[in-house]
Amino acid sequence: MTTYDDSNIFARILRGEVPSVKVFEDDTVLVMMDIFPQSRGHTLVIPKAASRNLLDADADALATAAAYLPRLARAVKAATGADGIRLAQFNEAPAGQTVFHLHFHLIPVYDGVELGQHGGGKADEAELRDIATAIAAAL
Ligand code: 5GP
Repeated sequence: MTTYDDSNIFARILRGEVPSVKVFEDDTVLVMMDIFPQSRGHTLVIPKAASRNLLDADADALATAAAYLPRLARAVKAATGADGIRLAQFNEAPAGQTVFHLHFHLIPVYDGVELGQHGGGKADEAELRDIATAIAAAL
């Protein structure tokens, strides 16, 4: 299926049907912690405009959401003490996409520490809340 399905988990989070650990929210984006982080501070930036991914995205909506990325990347880096930030974004299952609502990953990278698996182990929620608070404070 290549049409948008609004029963995906991020759409449910955006509608408030499923809880999340939020960093920031406005009319355009929701920023939250990834529940299966590839590293400490793995953050997801979710445009509220509905699209599966880049392949069906509206260019203006995408540009609006992407404009948040530099400031968010700086806040994630400052709050986590990471040495670098990887930006990732996957389009359709063969490319690694598992949730079919457009989103960007901001993944902190620490010198000498290998990233965990994509969609690996579940994070401790209290720890996620602490990191989210620190990122929000650094914004
Ligand atoms: P994708 O593979 O589609 O690029 O990334 C989806 C991401 O969403 C994965 O990194 C996965 O860990 C994360 N994820 C999946 N389910 C949930 C959830 O219920 N809550 C949160 N916060 N993240 C999720």
